Parts: sequence; structure tokens; C-alpha cells
Amino acid sequence: MAFHRVIDPVTTHTIRPNLLNYHATRATFTWDEIAAELDFLPGGSGLNIAHEAVTRHANNAHSEQVAIRWISKHDAIYDFTYADVEEESNRFANVLQELGIGKGERVFVLAGRIPALYFAALGTLKNTSVFCPLFSAFGPEPILQRMQRGDARVLLTTQKLFKRKVKEILSELPDLKFVLIADIDEHISDHILSLPLLMDTVSAEFVIPPTDPEDMAILHFTSGTTGMPKGAVHVHNAVYHHYMTAKYALDLHPNDVFWCTADPGWVTGTSYGIIAPLLHGVTNIIDEAEFDAQRWYRILEEQRVTVWYTAPTAIRRLMRLDFDPLEEFDLSHLRFVASVGEPLNPEAVVWGRDVLDLTIHDNWWQTETGGIMIANFAGQEVRPGSMGRPLPGIEAAIVRRINSETVQVIEKPNVDGDLALKPGWPSMYRAYLHDQARYDKCFVDGWYLSGDLAYRDEDGYFWFVGRADDIIKTSGHMVGPFEVESALMEHPAVAEAGVIGVPNDVIGELVKAFVALKPGYVASDELNRELLGFGRKKLGSAVAPKEIEFRDTLPKTRSGKIMRRLLKAWELGLPEGDVSTLED
Ligand code: ATP
Ligand code: MG
Repeated sequence: MAFHRVIDPVTTHTIRPNLLNYHATRATFTWDEIAAELDFLPGGSGLNIAHEAVTRHANNAHSEQVAIRWISKHDAIYDFTYADVEEESNRFANVLQELGIGKGERVFVLAGRIPALYFAALGTLKNTSVFCPLFSAFGPEPILQRMQRGDARVLLTTQKLFKRKVKEILSELPDLKFVLIADIDEHISDHILSLPLLMDTVSAEFVIPPTDPEDMAILHFTSGTTGMPKGAVHVHNAVYHHYMTAKYALDLHPNDVFWCTADPGWVTGTSYGIIAPLLHGVTNIIDEAEFDAQRWYRILEEQRVTVWYTAPTAIRRLMRLDFDPLEEFDLSHLRFVASVGEPLNPEAVVWGRDVLDLTIHDNWWQTETGGIMIANFAGQEVRPGSMGRPLPGIEAAIVRRINSETVQVIEKPNVDGDLALKPGWPSMYRAYLHDQARYDKCFVDGWYLSGDLAYRDEDGYFWFVGRADDIIKTSGHMVGPFEVESALMEHPAVAEAGVIGVPNDVIGELVKAFVALKPGYVASDELNRELLGFGRKKLGSAVAPKEIEFRDTLPKTRSGKIMRRLLKAWELGLPEGDVSTLED
């Protein structure tokens, strides 16, 4: 692929990337190195994520540094220093103590990105209770389901969300002891309480109790892209991985201003929207509002964001706009951009270089992995369309399943297979809550099987092919939807594409593409034919879509992932399955 200009990140920035020599760093890496950079609880009483993220900084010269800069929907800006976050999270931990909520008990949060959510997350971890975030746009049914499956003891929410979504399901949650409401000044009953009132009455001092690194810390539900969301259990040990990946994959440096655009309802918004930046003592930007292109560019400019972690869905939305952001906005502080959640089409990397003058670094991981596993790094060659290479301490491979007990590692490059990881990294999930059988099935022959298909090139770069569930078998070929979607995206009219296989008597499955057009383009038979021809030219007739259907939008999860299973269900008139995470 040819670029107008190749950017060499090592020489164009004055800051030295943390990972200068990929192979050497990997070869010598040990987790002890990371242990040496962590603080641990005093007196050998264990490891607690919130201590590493907040307390250690609040106890040293860093305490007056801004930890969280919160931008309200209405553009008010509030700064919370590490000392402030320490106090507020201490108060929340004390509130839990007062209420008799202890170790291992689940504290759910259903709220937009308000400061109380962040203090509650950290206070819950301090109290050795378990933080379980829910996406605030969920309706009553998905909220109920997750709280039931997660054994909720406490729910923190807001007045509006309580009235609209929680009140009606309370009778079905007999084990829920308390609802804390973040924006009322008086208690409603013995069980429905005002958080501000409680926070005012407790001390701002809190001593974190001994924490076993294997104590459960966070319960995160998966995105539900392929079916019913699973509850992934994470432990305090995960902090090693959060720290290490923020250093190497996000290239965080002490004075960075970091912005992760993900909502904490998804694992990215917790691992990297709360924990990782605080571990490194940087300033973490939190925007309460939803996506808006002008607003986002303005935040990048005004807050002088240096490291930005976002998602392909947002990048594709920015790509649709027909204006030159660098003419209107000064993004010169931005040093490093990364993306996760879905494959990042090569076209998006090209756009980043042409329009933002920056390389977008794709990385790959899952709710189950707890943190970034495979990444493109600052200062290393980026191959557009590739997810990059495994992090130090992470062994990834392409394997083939032989049977339910055996897999074979595919050593040959450029061969599709199951993307597998060697178990044992610190942020690996320790269970699917209440579903041991499903958990066990993911571990075969000494490997964790991710459920994604990929291949590795000669130089160790991994390339995403598709989710195992989405692979299309057509005329004896295996076709990954990503390849077809990326090719279509290269056409100027295409904003987004979702590709599925439609059962066909003759060829097994027929490749069908659903396409959303960029503004200014109108769906027509002519454009349909043009796109079919474009696809054939790019992909060859075996792989190219045989049918194209225009849609205004594609169905997506609330975290922005295209739900191909829904396109397929609609196409075939099949039941939709779980749609709790479907965007409005
Ligand atoms: P569910 O497991 O409930 O179906 P989900 O897999 O979408 O939902 P997440 O854990 O949020 O839930 O997403 C992880 C998945 O997202 C990965 O397994 C992969 O399919 C996809 N993904 C994440 N990052 C990338 C990437 N950089 N390139 C390609 N795919 C990615
Ligand atoms: Mg998944």
C-alpha cells in the first residue's frame, strides 16, 4: 500500500517511545520488571488496583497533579487532583463499610460518565468489593439480567435512571441491599439512599484492607456481539498488565494528557478509561457527552491531549466528514493515537496519515484478556490492516483445532487459524461467572482460544480475519468479512460495510454486503453495480460480494461493533437473539 508520506514516529516526536527495540524488550521482559514499578500495599499486605492507581500518588509529590479532568455535557470543567480522588474514593469505601458491604460483594454502577462513577469504581476496589459497570443506555431487562447473574448487592445510579429503569425491576432483585443515588440530597427509604448525604457523613481516611492479588476485583460483561453477554471475572493481579500495556502499547509518559473515549460500561473504558492512566500518574480526560466530531476535535485541541485511545467506529464517523480538521483545529500536541474494538480498516490508517498527520495504531484484545494483547507500537513500523505484534510477556499463536482436546500450532506464516494465547498473563479472566463449563471450553491443550481467526505474517505481525462465528464458506473458500468490508471501504462512496454469508444450495454461502453510504451519495442500481464491480476488481470473483444492499446504518453494539449476526438474522428471517447491547 502506498502512502503520500511515511511518518517515522521516532524522529518526528521529541519523546522517546517506551518500546524502542521490540525484539530486545520482548526477549528480556519479565513480570518482575513490572513488579518493581508497582508499589504494593504497605507491610506486605498484598496488591490492590486502587492503591496503585491513586493512593500511592496521593502519598507523594504527585498528589496535587490533576488525575481526572472531567468535562460535563455543558462544557463545565472540573479538575480532581490525585489527592481529591484519594479522598472521594476513600469516602465511597467508607460508605460501603457503613452499609456492611464487604469483600467480594458486587457493586454495580449504572450511570453516565459522571465523577461519582469513577470514585465509586476506585472506592469499591479499595474496599475489596467487586466493581461491575453497566452501560447507562441499557434498558430495564438487560440491567436486571446482568444484576441477577452478577449477584448485585449495591447499585449506584442517578435519579433519572432510577425512575426510568430501576424502580420497575427492584422487586425482582431480592438480594440487592442498597440503591445509592448520586444526585439526590435526601434518602428515599432505608434502602434507597442519597450518595452525597452518605459521603458527607463518613471519613475521608480509609486504610485498604489486605488484598490477595487473586481477589476478584472487576466483573465485566462482554459486548454481546456474537450472542448472550458473558460475565468475565478479573482480579487485582490485572494491575500488572494494565501498567505494562499503558507503558508499551499506549506509550504513556509522565506528563501526558490521555483521553480514552470508551464508556466504562465496556472493558476498554475501565481498564484504560479509569485504571491504566492513573497507574502512570497522568491526567485522564473524561468527557460526559456522546460522540460529536466538532466537540471531539475541540477537546483534543483545548485539552492538549497527547495520547488518544479510541475505536474504529468513531474513526469511521470522522472519516465521513468532508472537512480538513487541521485547518480548524490545532492538534499539534497529539503524539500517539490508538484504536481497539473492531478491525481497523487499512483505509482508516491511510486517512489518519493524510488527514490528521498521525498514524493510528490498531490493537487487539477482549473483555476476557483484561488488557491489550497485540498492538502496533509507537516508534515501530505499522502495517495498515494489521493488529500488530504481541506485547512483551504475551505469547500469541495461530493454531488449528484437531479435536476437543488437541490443537496444533501453525508455524507457517500467512495461514488462517484460531488466534490463541498462552494462559497465565496477569489480567487473564479467571472465570465466566456461573459458567465453568463455558470457561473450560476456551482452554485447550495449553492454549486460550480467543474465538477470533487470524494469520501471522513472516515478521510476526498478526492480521485479523474475522470472528469464528462470522466466517463465510463460499465455493470452497473461507472468507473473512473484514477483508471484504475493507475493500469496499476503499470506494469513495462507502462509509461502512457489514458482510455476511447467505446460505446457498450451489456455493454453500453467498457473500452479501450491507453498505452505508457517505453523505452526498445516493443509493441507486448504478452505484450497486459499480460497487459489485469494484469488489470483483479488488478481491477477485471468488471472494467479492455477489449481492449488495444499501442501508442507512448498520446494526451496532453500544460500543460500536457491527453486529453481523443481526444482519444475518434479518436477512434469513431468524430470531434476533440477545439484542440488549444493540445501539438505538
Ligand atoms: P461477545 O463476546 O459477547 O460476542 P465481543 O466479543 O464483541 O462480544 P468484547 O470482548 O468487547 O466483546 O470484544 C472483543 C472482540 O472484539 C474480539 O474478540 C474481536 O473479535 C474484536 N476486536 C477487538 N479489537 C479488535 C481489533 N483490533 N481487530 C479486530 N477485532 C477486534
Ligand atoms: Mg467475545
